[in-house]
Amino acid sequence: MVLFLFMRVDYHCHTAFSKDCDYPMEDQIRAAITAGVREIAFTEHEDYNPEDFTSFFFDHPAYWNAIRAFRRVYGNRITIRAGIEISEPHRYPQATQEILQAYPWDFVLGSLHWLEGKYNTFLPSFFSAFGNWRESFRRYFVEMQTLAAEGDYDILSHIDYPARYGYAAFGENYDISEWESEIRAILQHVVTRGKGIEINTNPLRKGRLEPNPPAIVVNWFREMGGQHLTIGSDSHAPHHVGGNLDRAIAIARAAGFTHLATYERRQPRLIAI
Ligand SMILES: [Zn+2]
Ligand SMILES: [Zn+2]
Repeated sequence: MVLFLFMRVDYHCHTAFSKDCDYPMEDQIRAAITAGVREIAFTEHEDYNPEDFTSFFFDHPAYWNAIRAFRRVYGNRITIRAGIEISEPHRYPQATQEILQAYPWDFVLGSLHWLEGKYNTFLPSFFSAFGNWRESFRRYFVEMQTLAAEGDYDILSHIDYPARYGYAAFGENYDISEWESEIRAILQHVVTRGKGIEINTNPLRKGRLEPNPPAIVVNWFREMGGQHLTIGSDSHAPHHVGGNLDRAIAIARAAGFTHLATYERRQPRLIAI
């Protein structure tokens, strides 16, 4: 038996209710239990940009049936939170309000996957769309300020999401401190509104040295009075679930966090780390 020093939680996970994930929710739950995760939030993709291949795929009634059924089966081994990852909630406020009011969600991630509604930050073309990759990142962080200020979310996900995909464009030259003022403006909105950010460990499993966002952003957030921090693997397969949580905890502690946020019906609850 493996003993863990803190309660392991994974607050960013996908299942086959997201179009880019092939694994049923039950596989992800079993993998989480095996990985020692005691609480998991399933945050399926909710996209309204018609260009996105995941748009309008999320079957909400089927998801809620699954959540309720698996809570009955696995509820004594793991707490299952009903989450949703909304892309660009600031651009689609009406659709966002409709879906958030339709179900008793526990947890809402706000994400920026499409810059200015038309540039897919996942694609190599994003890094050359404005002449150079530094300008692409600058524009990304500027729009993230609007999301942070106006969007409906609990946690801003992967604040530097394009950093996952532009390695060919920027190699070792990416240093998020170049955009410190833009990022501090994002964090100020988050702090003022009592929202939070996540440490997304997805890049670590791909061999990158830093999560999204890098540790220094977690330090800035704490220094600015940030209270709510979640960690998530952004898993799209069972072997991703619970990945690199220990590393994320170490980053959180080094920044001065003594607690992580968990959510029930969108109310934060702090757990010690
Ligand atoms: Zn995402
Ligand atoms: Zn995700």
